[in-house]
Amino acid sequence: MTTLITHPLPILALGLALGPRVIPPRLLLAGFLLALLPDADMLAFKFGIAYADAFGHRGFSHSLLFAGCCGVLGALACRLLRCGPLRAFCWIALATASHSLLDAATDGGLGVVWLWPWSEQRHFLPWRPIEVSPFIHGFFSQRGLEVLASEARWVWLPCLALALGGMALRGLLRPRQQAL
Ligand SMILES: [Zn+2]
Repeated sequence: MTTLITHPLPILALGLALGPRVIPPRLLLAGFLLALLPDADMLAFKFGIAYADAFGHRGFSHSLLFAGCCGVLGALACRLLRCGPLRAFCWIALATASHSLLDAATDGGLGVVWLWPWSEQRHFLPWRPIEVSPFIHGFFSQRGLEVLASEARWVWLPCLALALGGMALRGLLRPRQQAL
């Protein structure tokens, strides 16, 4: 996994870049939470389920089907999220899938079971620049700092650039839109 600090950043940055008219605050918050949700599968360790099991870590909760199901729940709750069902579906599914995409870009652990339940094969992206995070007991160590530095380089800074770039672009376009 990447750290829990890092997982919601891409969806947060994209939401801030698009602005509240496209992604209302409630939808943004829901996306933030859903980008964290797949790692609830860490509970599997408590029940003695092996990491490599389809119900273990980076298992079914990291699949595209799970992301799609979360999207459907988002669409059903679209009134609560202050948007239409299609937008809620797309955003929530994207937020959930963004989690396993980041995991698949890490350089350790097992890959993610994207195609569950049709395949239990574990997948990584061809390019894996992010150092894998140790589990919580190993986090406050030299290795933990190296992971944070890696995430800062490959996730935090690009996300900051995306959010600020999007906000700047919206700021530039706004006066023109108002003048039209
Ligand atoms: Zn994960």
